[in-house]
Amino acid sequence: MAKYEYLAQHVSGKFLYAADALSRAPNPDCTDDTDLELEVEAYLNSDLFPSLPATPPKLMEYVQAQIDDPTCAKVREYCETQWPSRNSIDSSLKPYWKVKASLTLVKQLLLYNNRIVVPLKLRKETLENIHEGHQGIERSRLRAQCSVWWPCVTAEVKQYVENCRECAKECKPKREPLISTPLPDYPWQMVGTDLFELKGQQYLVVVDYYSRYPECIKLSRTTSAHIITVLKAIFARHGIPETVRSDNGPQFSSHEFTQFAQTYGFKHTTSSPHYPQSNGAYGSNRKTHPKEIGRSSLSNFVLSSDTNAVVWTIPL
Ligand SMILES: [Zn+2]
Repeated sequence: MAKYEYLAQHVSGKFLYAADALSRAPNPDCTDDTDLELEVEAYLNSDLFPSLPATPPKLMEYVQAQIDDPTCAKVREYCETQWPSRNSIDSSLKPYWKVKASLTLVKQLLLYNNRIVVPLKLRKETLENIHEGHQGIERSRLRAQCSVWWPCVTAEVKQYVENCRECAKECKPKREPLISTPLPDYPWQMVGTDLFELKGQQYLVVVDYYSRYPECIKLSRTTSAHIITVLKAIFARHGIPETVRSDNGPQFSSHEFTQFAQTYGFKHTTSSPHYPQSNGAYGSNRKTHPKEIGRSSLSNFVLSSDTNAVVWTIPL
């Protein structure tokens, strides 16, 4: 009861309809107030602080920070004496004035009900502790409600969790795991192909999955028919691969391309429509994608303008 503020009101005996055993039959043997004081002290020592999730040194740190903080120091003072009227206090104290009935000073620690009043200096650290383990907004709020308070604490907890970088990372949509392509048994058994643009010019790149040997061909058109013509020329030089991998671009998903695969007798596999990066040779490394290999090839070598075709003899 020590933490409550009382309103004493006299009620005349004639209005007490039930017998008041406490006031009318005092125990003459019990005149010493020491027992009561000890009981109060025991209550304060045993029941209040163990419920707070803080060690005694940490509680002392809060006490000291409250004393050092000008606003908290004033609140502490008003709790020990009397709160002035709302109009006569500083604006920084108004949020505390509204809840003055819940504010108490227990063993030098300023509390809001059973929650520690956290001064400005310790709020960031307290928020970190509340959000330890990166629990969501609701769980973090519940932690605060059991232990700490300051004006707008709920909104600040919400804001802190929303801005947490670790939590933001966790919320990112999970990527489909990339499955590495096993190394083929021999060269030109499996090739990857893709279109890419460099300095406004479209190219087709074909990369051997065994050796990473690339061929880049400048394209005059990007139609399926033209891509097939270009691939036929490449296959004429190196042979027809067993498998051709590509993305789901219109040139490769067309009926013409399917027919081309059937006529030439190679297996055509396409990457997942939602995860085009799975076309990468040997796993997830972006630089192993045919498109990336083609780009880096062309930025390192000069393209033959006569034939519009270059056979790279330097392996990457
Ligand atoms: Zn977090």
